[in-house]
Parts: sequence; C-alpha cells; structure tokens
Amino acid sequence: MDSIGAQGGHGRPAGPALEDEAKHADEALRRSEERFRLLAENTADGIVMVDGDGRIVMVNEAAEGMFRYRRDELLGQPVEVLLPQALRQGHAAHRMNYAASGDARARPMSAGLTLTARRKDESEFPVEISLTPLRAEESTVVVAAISDISDRRRMEEQLKQTVEDLTRSNAELERFAYVASHDLQEPLRMISSYTQLLGRRYSGKLGDEADEFIAYAVDGARRMQRLINDLLAYSRLGADGRELGPVDSDELLERAVTDLGVLIEETGAGVTHDALPVVRADDTLLAKLFVNLIGNAIKFHGEEPPHVHVSARREGSRWVFCVRDNGIGIDRQYHERIFTVFQRLHSKEAYPGSGMGLAICKKIVEQQGGRIWVESSIGNGSAFFFTLEAENEQRIAA
Ligand code: ADP
Repeated sequence: MDSIGAQGGHGRPAGPALEDEAKHADEALRRSEERFRLLAENTADGIVMVDGDGRIVMVNEAAEGMFRYRRDELLGQPVEVLLPQALRQGHAAHRMNYAASGDARARPMSAGLTLTARRKDESEFPVEISLTPLRAEESTVVVAAISDISDRRRMEEQLKQTVEDLTRSNAELERFAYVASHDLQEPLRMISSYTQLLGRRYSGKLGDEADEFIAYAVDGARRMQRLINDLLAYSRLGADGRELGPVDSDELLERAVTDLGVLIEETGAGVTHDALPVVRADDTLLAKLFVNLIGNAIKFHGEEPPHVHVSARREGSRWVFCVRDNGIGIDRQYHERIFTVFQRLHSKEAYPGSGMGLAICKKIVEQQGGRIWVESSIGNGSAFFFTLEAENEQRIAA
C-alpha cells in the first residue's frame, strides 16, 4: 500500500478521479503480476522467459532446481547456457529465425524429437519444451515451459527392453516346442508300431499279464502321439503367416458342425446359432476355433443331452462371439488356467483329451488380434467368449 501511496503523490496536478484511476490500474497490474509469479513458482515445469535478444529475463524455482543454477546466475545470460555446447550455435540461429519469422506461435519445440538440456555441472538430460511468445508493446518475450522427461525416458527404455526380451523368449519357446515335438515323433512312431506288432503277434501266447502290459504300452504310445501332434499343431499355428481377410463366420460354423458330425450324432447334441457376421479372420483357423469350442461344449456335457448355442454381438469395431453350453461348468478358480498348454481338470477316463484344445483356441484368437475368456460356474453350463475385428464389407454374397 505504501508504494501506491507514494506513486500517486499529492504534488501532482491530477484531480482525485484521475488519481483513483491510476491507483486502480496500479493495483490491477500488481495483482496480475502477483498471479503470474504465483503461477510460475508453483508449476512443476521449469519456466524460462527469454527476451528478443535471447537473454534470460526470468526463471522460476523449478527451472533453478532443474538446471542447478541460482536465479541470479542465469538472469541476463544467453539462453544457450542451458544447452549442451555442441547445440549452442545452431540454437542461436534457430532462435533468431523463430523471432524473425513474424508468425511465432505457441507450439511444442521440435515435436517428436528428443531435446537435450544441460545443467550447471555439464550433465545432460532429456526435456520436452513448449514455447509461447508474449508480445508486449515494444518487445516480444518467449516463455519456455520445460519438463524433465528423464524418468519417462527411462521407463520407456525399460518397457522396450522388456517387450524385446519377451518376444525373444516367446520365439525361443515356440521354436523349442516345435523342434521337441517334431523330433520326438519319429522314435515314438517306432515304439508305437513295435508295441502294436507285439500285441498282434504274441497276443494270447505270453499269458494274460503280458497281454495286459502290452495293451498299456500301446495305449500309452497312442496317447503320447496325440499329445505330441497337438503340441506340434500348436507351435505351427501362425508359422505360415496367413493373411487375414473377410470371412463369413456363419459358413465356417456350418463347416465345423459338419466336421463334428459323428460326435453330434453319438451324443444327440443340438447345435443352434444366430445369424453370424463377416469378420476379419483366417478361415481355416476360425473353423478350427469353432470345432474346438463346440467339441468341448459337447464333450463336457452333464446329465442333460448337450445343447450348444453360438451367437455374436457387435461392440464398436469388434464382434464378440459366444459359444454357450448346458454342460458341467467350470469352477471360477480355473477360468484362466484352462487356456494354458496341457491343463486339464479331469482324468482321461472321465473325459478324453490332451489339454491343448483351449491353448490352441487362445493362440488362434490372439493371432487375429482378439481376446478369449470364459464365464461359467459348476453345474450352470459355460459360455466361452472371443472377439474378432469386424469387416467393413457387408455379408459375402453366397
Ligand atoms: P481337453 O478338452 O483336451 O481336456 P482343453 O484345453 O480343450 O483340453 O480344455 C481344458 C479343460 O477345460 C478341460 O479339460 C475341461 O476341464 C475344461 N473345459 C473346457 N471346455 C469346457 C466346457 N465347455 N465345459 C466344461 N469344462 C470345459
């Protein structure tokens, strides 16, 4: 208040009205400066204000901390002191162009590029800068808002590294599964054919116990062949890099139902479906997906004759398919585990299978950019959901 009183000194020839106006203007200016100062001091960004000659005229506390200079060390210095030595000359030229271009607008600096700043101790750090020119009456100042993005960069690097490691270990695992299952096939074929030969040639000649043992060996070899074949099919999925295109899921469902004809007949299952859409997928893989899900829905039936219903609903750019059954259901705790390789919840005596079916389904869906999950509880049937990208074209003409 003192200073205002002094400025509006009584010696001036101005009348009281003019004096009041001047007082108000001073007060408004003081308030707006105070607001600006508060804003600048409380923002997490470093703020550096530079005049038309490229000299620093204001810095906030965050900038002091970021660059490790005291305010008085920076005021009046060319802004280039905040840059690595090698960039200073180029920056000065840039700055002059920016000022001379006449259309200096608020903008991020070198969007998409990593900018580097330099601290007093000459260490360097990555920054993001946004520039705002402020035109006062006789000069233009540029306000630079600077954020230190070291932490973000570090996290991005870590994430990139993790994705690379995961991709590599995934590829190695797939290669291992392929080589192992492929190389195991040959010796297994030999075991299988010779145990079958033993069975045929010596059945009834070596005693009941020997017949029983040979039967176990034949059965074991057959099951192992099935496991290895499924594992091989799993690791081969997608290896031939098929193109995704528009496919009519209605038609592929019909194809799957035909493939499952014997099982459907044996169990008296009913398979129904709504009208199904055209989606972006691979036809062979989608047919296999239907075969696996509908096959399971029939296989894991309860007391009632199996009934399976397939439907699809649109959600944004995707279709969510649902394969619902009235079977035995799956306890909540197994809803994720059943999608992993060789995971089964039942003995082979209760329900035959290798535990690969849903792992294959998951891989098929994910390769086509979708997701698969189950909703189910014991005794209440199961609903398997999966998503696929919609295809813009309308239904394919028959
Ligand atoms: P498999 O059918 O060869 O056992 P899957 O990977 O297809 O292997 O399925 C894994 C397990 O998930 C099955 O053993 C079964 O316990 C459970 N399951 C899968 N589909 C159903 C279903 N429709 N109803 C109840 N349980 C199911």
